[in-house]
Amino acid sequence: MKALTKKLVEAWGPPGYEHHVRAMIEEEVEGLCDEMRVDTLGNLICRVGEKTGSNKRIMIAAHMDEIGLMVSHIDRKGYLRFESLGGLFAPTLMGNRVLFENGTVGTLGFDDFWGNYSKALKNNEFYIDVSMGSDENGGNDVGDIKVGDPAVFLREFEERGSRWIAKSMDDRIGCVVAIEAMRKLKDSGKVAHEVYFVFTVQEEVGVRGATTSAFAIDPDIGIALDVTPAGDEIKTTATDTRLGKGAAVKIKDGGIVVPPEISAMMINLAEKNGIPYQREILRFGGTDAKAIHLTRSGVPSGVISVPCRYVHTVSETVDRADVEACVDLVAAIASTADLGL
Ligand SMILES: [Zn+2]
Repeated sequence: MKALTKKLVEAWGPPGYEHHVRAMIEEEVEGLCDEMRVDTLGNLICRVGEKTGSNKRIMIAAHMDEIGLMVSHIDRKGYLRFESLGGLFAPTLMGNRVLFENGTVGTLGFDDFWGNYSKALKNNEFYIDVSMGSDENGGNDVGDIKVGDPAVFLREFEERGSRWIAKSMDDRIGCVVAIEAMRKLKDSGKVAHEVYFVFTVQEEVGVRGATTSAFAIDPDIGIALDVTPAGDEIKTTATDTRLGKGAAVKIKDGGIVVPPEISAMMINLAEKNGIPYQREILRFGGTDAKAIHLTRSGVPSGVISVPCRYVHTVSETVDRADVEACVDLVAAIASTADLGL
């Protein structure tokens, strides 16, 4: 699981440009599902099991995209201004490195850094430096980079005890949970429902892939797999989720009030199977469940989250035990015939 996580978090995949991540996942799930397709928007849809009467059609979504930046303007000095793709926070930018698809590495700088370093920063005061030091444009040549090119943070996966640290844990770790659950179901052969594992696109810019894939699948139950900010960072006292305390079962966030029977189903299964869990309220933001539960005439939906420190930074930090608990809970849902719903 660690090798798969390292591979996926280090992959390049801003919103709308998930093709590299999708290719890796396709390779990984080949043989783990009964049917696989890619839809118009680029969602990878994998079916396990089938509808045989009163069992459920369950959609389980994890998003492949990560936050990124897109070049919006190249100034006369060769510095690049950018738009954000998803929630990009100014305090995370200065001195960081970004990677373009063609392999160009850029450095993030800030206007008049020495005059402004103690001030509140805004994204539009940062720029990307891709200078090569050649004779062109006084050393600030931009090579092949053009307006509209997207980039993502560049950072390697690290392991520290049971902690895993990387960019784009949001939401490649959700993809890992889905893949590992598929593997578990394949090994056990116990699939009680028609389960669609959907690796979605463009979550970070407005849950767009989940919107269309949920419409196509028309599920009885929707479940998003995502990270949730941990409340155990210093002074983050208003959130109860903790690293290492188990799978977080969503009760509410900015995009959904989870129907109590859905969260109760997850909690009952966690208790019955001895899976560590915690109840989760996310104060801001949402997940793919926001889109799934509003599909067609409505789909009862919930979320299983991996608690994560420093969300939307290059050092998103999760605990391996929580990831394992999430895998176990997803597998338990897919393999339990009577979900009490
Ligand atoms: Zn996410």
